[in-house]
Amino acid sequence: MNKDVLIVEDEPKIARLLELELTYEGYVVTIADNGKEGLEQALSKAWGLILLDIMLPELNGIEVLRRLRKIDIDTPVIVVTARNTTPDKISGLDQGANDYVTKPFEIEELLARMRATMRNRSVEPKVKEQAKLLQIDNLTLNKMTREIKREGKRIDLTPKEYDLFLYLLENKHQVLSREQIMNHVWGFDFEGETNVIDVYIRYIRKKIDQDFDINLIHTIRGVGFCVRGEDS
Ligand code: CA
Repeated sequence: MNKDVLIVEDEPKIARLLELELTYEGYVVTIADNGKEGLEQALSKAWGLILLDIMLPELNGIEVLRRLRKIDIDTPVIVVTARNTTPDKISGLDQGANDYVTKPFEIEELLARMRATMRNRSVEPKVKEQAKLLQIDNLTLNKMTREIKREGKRIDLTPKEYDLFLYLLENKHQVLSREQIMNHVWGFDFEGETNVIDVYIRYIRKKIDQDFDINLIHTIRGVGFCVRGEDS
């Protein structure tokens, strides 16, 4: 388990107290005393947990959290708020906080919540890994690394080819119309040649299907295209 904890807290007394208590519990603590530095620190490495105060100079805690989540940082965050008001809490949780505590808090309660939050997290990666890996027949696509393999052989696609194939694969077994593909992959305002889809389908067929017995990319005459395997 990652024991690195970032504390974003501008009140030196509270920051110091937390540092002492958490260090005693075996956590490795870093303190940022304003929102801007907190965000920079948060993005600088993988944290086991972030304790985030709401009322902060430079950038408030909710804004820090919002920006953090926007960049898809899924580090557990416990929001610490001095104001015991419901809208504040809800707003904090809506922005993607995993939990919150209200000042003044009992250190034991905070530690318990930290443990619970970090424990919940440790079962999560497996589920996420599965969501990142798409599969059809003997082909896999890893959305994290953008790596495509068929029968263990790596297939390299250009960025546009990748976007097209990903869209088909995410909607496998469904027939997608040229219009859907155009809007999704090229955008509504695309003004190039209308046969661009057919051209790109030809490109990806060459790379994905040509060297294999089973075709995954199918043309549905008069309708559009579909990715499906042998078993479907
Ligand atoms: Ca504060």
